[in-house]
Amino acid sequence: MWVQRFLSRSAGQLKTFSRQISVRIVNETNIEVLEENDRKPLTFPGVWLRDNCLCEDCFHGSSKSRKLDWDNFDTRIRPVTLEANEVTKEVKVKWSDSHESSFSLDWLKERSFQKERQKDYLREFYRPATKHWSGAEFQEIARHFSYEEVMSQDSVLMQWLQALAVYGVALLRNAPLDEGVVRRLAERVGFIRRTTYGEEFVVQAKPGAQNFAYLSLPLPLHTDLPYYEYKPSVNILHCVVQTDSPGGSNMLVDGFHIADILRRDHPEDFERLCRVVVDWNDIGSEDGREFHNIWRAPVICLDAEGRYTRVNHSVPQRDSHFNVPLAEVLPWYESYARFVRLAIADSHAFKTRPGDVLTFNNIRLLHGRTGYDDSEQNPRYIVGAYLDWDIIYSRLRVLKKRLGGGKI
Ligand SMILES: [Zn+2]
Repeated sequence: MWVQRFLSRSAGQLKTFSRQISVRIVNETNIEVLEENDRKPLTFPGVWLRDNCLCEDCFHGSSKSRKLDWDNFDTRIRPVTLEANEVTKEVKVKWSDSHESSFSLDWLKERSFQKERQKDYLREFYRPATKHWSGAEFQEIARHFSYEEVMSQDSVLMQWLQALAVYGVALLRNAPLDEGVVRRLAERVGFIRRTTYGEEFVVQAKPGAQNFAYLSLPLPLHTDLPYYEYKPSVNILHCVVQTDSPGGSNMLVDGFHIADILRRDHPEDFERLCRVVVDWNDIGSEDGREFHNIWRAPVICLDAEGRYTRVNHSVPQRDSHFNVPLAEVLPWYESYARFVRLAIADSHAFKTRPGDVLTFNNIRLLHGRTGYDDSEQNPRYIVGAYLDWDIIYSRLRVLKKRLGGGKI
C-alpha cells in the first residue's frame, strides 16, 4: 500500500514548492517512489538500496566509498517500513536487519532503473555515444579548436574531448612550433602515456629506422601498437614542419564505420573478423632496450553488449605466427582483405600545417600517410604523444559535472 505524508499540506507556503511523495513496498523486496504528477513510479530493488546505504556505518563519505560489511551481507534483505519526507525530500527505510537508511529523492532519481534514464546516463556521462562517419563526411564532422583556447578555457577543453570521444578525431589549430606542445596538451588533460617508443616521439625520416613509421615511404593505414594489451588510446600529432613535397598527407578512416558496412553488407566477414584471434607483434630495440611485444586479438573487438571497443589493423605488425585452426586461415584472409579494401576506399587524405595538432582515437580510426620526398630542403617534422581514454573520460566527466553539458 502507498504510504503518504502530508507535511507540505500543513506548511501552507511550502505547498507550491513541494510535491507530494508516495512510497510503497512491492513484491516484498522492492521500493516504489512516486512523486506527485509523475505518471510512473520509480522502482528500486531493496537489496540494491541496502547495499548502497549512505549512513556512516555503511558509507565512507569523504572517499565516496562503500564500507558495508559484505562478508555478512544478506541478499534476502527486505524493507519493513517506509517513510517519505516531502520537506527534506528524503525516503527513510527500516530494514529486516533492523538497520535504517535514508535516501534523498535526487540521489534516487539519478540512479533510476528506468531503461531510458540508464541509457541517458551511459550516453551522456559514462562515455559519449560514438557517431560513425564515412570519408566523404570528414569535413562535416571534423571539429577545429584553437590550441590556446583549449589550454586556457575549460569549456573549450571539454568540447575538444567531447568531439574526440564522439567522432574519434579533432584538430587543434595555431599551436606554437616548439617541441613541448604535445606534453603540455597531454598534461592539460592528465598525463602522457609512455610506450616502448618513449613519451614524446618524433616522426621524421631516420636512417636505419627501428620502426616502419620512421621512413619517408607511404605508410599504409594502421592502428598504432596493436601488439599491446593495453593500447595507447589517442594519438596526438603536432605538425612542426611540413614537407613542401606533394606527399606527407595524413590519411584517416573511421574503423567503426567500416565495421558498420561489413556488419550490414557482409555479415559473415564481420562475424569472422570479430571472432578470429590474430597475433600482433613488434620486435626491436629502442634506446638500447630490446623488446618483443605480442598481443592476440581480433581485428574488430566487441564488448559484452556487442558494441565496438576497438579495431586492430597493421600490415607490418601482424605476426607470422597465426595460431588458428588451418580451416580458418583462407576465409580469414578473404574477410580481412575486404575490410582493408573498404577502409582504403573510404580513407580521407589531408595535409596538416605547421601549428596543427591532429588528435584521433587510435583504437578506432585507422591512420596512414602518403609518401613524401624527404631531404634537407624538404623536411617533415611531427612530434607525437599518446593519451589514454581512462584519463580523457575522467577529465571529461569532471568538467561536465563542473560546467554541465558537453553534447555534440
Ligand atoms: Zn547504513
